[in-house]
Amino acid sequence: MIVMKFGGSSVADASRLRHVAGIVKSQLTKKPVLVLSAMGDTTDHLLEAANLALKQGKVDIKNIEKLHQDTVKALKLSSAQKEIAGLLDELTRLLSGIALIRELTPRTKDYLVSFGERLSVRIAAAYLKSIGMNSRAFDAFDLGFVSNSNYTQAELLKESWDLIPEKILPQIKGNVLPVVTGFIAKDEKGSITTLGRGGSDLSATMIAAACKAEEIQVWKDVDGILTADPRIVKNARPVQHVTYEEAAELAYFGAQVLHPRAMLPCMKTGTPVLVKNSYNIEAPGTRIESASASAKKSPPVRAITSKHKVTLVDIVSTRMLGQYGFLAEVFSVFAKHSISIDMVATSEVSVSLTLDTAYDLAEVKKELSKIAHIEVKTGKAIVTIIGNVKRSSEILSRTFRICQLLGVPVQMISQGASKVNISFIVNDTEAAETVNALHMDFFDSLDK
Ligand code: ASP
Ligand code: MG
Repeated sequence: MIVMKFGGSSVADASRLRHVAGIVKSQLTKKPVLVLSAMGDTTDHLLEAANLALKQGKVDIKNIEKLHQDTVKALKLSSAQKEIAGLLDELTRLLSGIALIRELTPRTKDYLVSFGERLSVRIAAAYLKSIGMNSRAFDAFDLGFVSNSNYTQAELLKESWDLIPEKILPQIKGNVLPVVTGFIAKDEKGSITTLGRGGSDLSATMIAAACKAEEIQVWKDVDGILTADPRIVKNARPVQHVTYEEAAELAYFGAQVLHPRAMLPCMKTGTPVLVKNSYNIEAPGTRIESASASAKKSPPVRAITSKHKVTLVDIVSTRMLGQYGFLAEVFSVFAKHSISIDMVATSEVSVSLTLDTAYDLAEVKKELSKIAHIEVKTGKAIVTIIGNVKRSSEILSRTFRICQLLGVPVQMISQGASKVNISFIVNDTEAAETVNALHMDFFDSLDK
């Protein structure tokens, strides 16, 4: 058994659905379970419709209706027409209720956005059936997805680990091709919940891990994880293998991968995740797997990323050496002003830290000046190298040699506790050339 997850852009319209059907058909012998997002931007459109009802008392789902009805028509799914119309009608009534009482609780919001996925699986399952597959649409809450009641950000309960295989495996044995809603679950009171935006990746990895699937394929609209941001490095290329930890680290830096949360079930069971491009099936994609499975195939560096418009704060204690509580005091001042700190490097009497948003630091400076000299430097960038930190000496020496050749001063460095990340600060104006030179050194040599 495998799990195949298709995101919103992969199921955006009739032609995309035909394309998905081709991909699924070619892998039927692997006994797939499909997990789908809402079609295209339907989740956003649902939220906009909710806002319109709430703020202006208007009910308008024309674009949502059109997309789904056009798709049903184009794919000639007369069998599904009634069910789709029924859901759209229920959605209209829900929005009328919101427009009337001008109230939108988190619970109602989840019920509302659930229509996106509930519509998409019914259309897809009907279509696959019409071309000869034994597909059947399922709402995830009928397949063991039980969550807490933390609406809009619900977390799956432990019992889901047992309930999901209990419900799904018999379907697979019966040669059914289940087409399951991503993103949604139900709480113990029976109300629909959602797992947070982008949550269908988690639905898919959860099914794969709980059912001990051989692999999970996440079909996106990019060639997998890239070695660098293609807007900065022209010849950025797909990374073929990464560990779960590396992928999680990359996700924090905005790479187009799974949400770190979605990685957790697979990390637990060691289920490999293959990220593939549904617009470019031939591309090998990126395989995310355990460190031991990926170690053999590992070059020292997997990917290089950068974060721009970063502020560097240097804080030097004015107290005597050996004082305790200095760091605690520094961090508590930042916490008090709700300022999120990213990187930190310390010595006995000083600490450097970075902030990724332009905060007003006047108050912080005032408070800290009682215990330290503080200097704020804007216009910096963080360059992060994700790789095999067991080879950190090699990575560092190559990195610093390049910075030296470029004449780019390194202003702070930190090797993350995650053991996969080495980060350093340079001037923002020098970041792109640094990333390019590092990329050339670490990756272009692999081609020779
Ligand atoms: N449809 C939901 C969203 O757009 C869930 C997902 O696509 O993963 O956030
Ligand atoms: Mg989406």
